[in-house]
Amino acid sequence: MKQGLGSKCNGETVMRDGLEAFTVTRLRPTVLLTEKRGWVFMFKGSCLCGGVTIHVEGEFEHAPEACHCTQCRKQSGHFLSAVNVHRSKLTVTGDEHVTWYQSSDNVRRGFCSQCGATLFWKPEIDGYEWTAVAMGLFDGPTGTRIAKHTFVGDKGDYYDINDGAPQSDAF
Ligand SMILES: [Zn+2]
Ligand SMILES: [Zn+2]
Repeated sequence: MKQGLGSKCNGETVMRDGLEAFTVTRLRPTVLLTEKRGWVFMFKGSCLCGGVTIHVEGEFEHAPEACHCTQCRKQSGHFLSAVNVHRSKLTVTGDEHVTWYQSSDNVRRGFCSQCGATLFWKPEIDGYEWTAVAMGLFDGPTGTRIAKHTFVGDKGDYYDINDGAPQSDAF
């Protein structure tokens, strides 16, 4: 089973929790052999200290957005680039290191209690099943680009946004 995919493998092999993983190409997510679903594509990432690791199953369903609102700027230290991931596709290990800060009535922001890394922006609204995952967590190329800049009216005066992506003063 590993043979066919293995021929394109760049050689990296990782064993973790009984799952064997290897990277097919530099531009593709990691391929993991899972017990329930066989081979699946996974993006993997971690916080700075490695205490929190994430896996996102499958291709990204959305492009990342960069939020320049005051909350995101203060919490991230600059602005927050994050991608919405369906919670059913997101696996987090090292939960015990994730601290949640209630930043508004319906939103909590997760960060690593050991290294301080910005991790998640998580709305808690009935029926809403997406969590924004900070792009800085992902290891290696993601194959995606920032699709939109939001709340640009709140951005700092010390940088310009000139990547050509659309800009909005709200969401
Ligand atoms: Zn950490
Ligand atoms: Zn924001």
